Amino acid sequence: MRHVALTGGIGCGKTTVLREFERLGVPCFVADDVAAAYYRDPAFVAEVDHLLGGGTTTVDGTADKQAIARIVFADKEKLLQLNALVHPRVWSDYLAFAQRHGGAPYCLFESAIAYEYGFDRLVDKVVCVYVEKEERLRRLAERDHVGREALEARMRNQLPAEEKMMRADYVVLNYEGNPRRRQVEYIHRMLKKLP
Ligand code: ADP
Repeated sequence: MRHVALTGGIGCGKTTVLREFERLGVPCFVADDVAAAYYRDPAFVAEVDHLLGGGTTTVDGTADKQAIARIVFADKEKLLQLNALVHPRVWSDYLAFAQRHGGAPYCLFESAIAYEYGFDRLVDKVVCVYVEKEERLRRLAERDHVGREALEARMRNQLPAEEKMMRADYVVLNYEGNPRRRQVEYIHRMLKKLP
């Protein structure tokens, strides 16, 4: 069993590309979705609240995402501590997922921040989806109806998409008119052959 990360800048089309891998029968793990689910677990919410010094739960005991974001984006140390709580747990959940799919040649670990947080060192190969920034902004504005400023702020928290692309083992250029399915099928054939 090999481990493969699927990454790329926000709005590049990771989810769209992931669907193609799923179509080919590859077990796909979406790190963001798994991490989001932790915030529905009261024990985890309490742990985060303790870590961040309180004030991060709402009256009904659920996580106050906005309060958490305010704290960690103003305090780098707290962000690192929160990441140190979440990321190892995500990775261990991923490994359990991979084990449940032991018959597959490889599993995909989808994360926008695979390079930022060193997940690239835990996997055998990295696939990066790439589209230039202006096009990503256009697609995201359409998808999320979020303003340019907010999107650019989110992008500034990530490595430049070009750097991810240069570091990756395989690149999917996700432009209109570019046969995405064909690119994924080619990469899939390569990944299946990994020793
Ligand atoms: P990510 O998961 O990387 O944030 P998504 O897969 O959600 O990105 O894609 C962002 C938006 O761009 C979505 O609305 C998606 O439908 C659209 N999109 C994805 N690939 C293409 C493409 N090749 N051409 C045009 N729009 C695309």
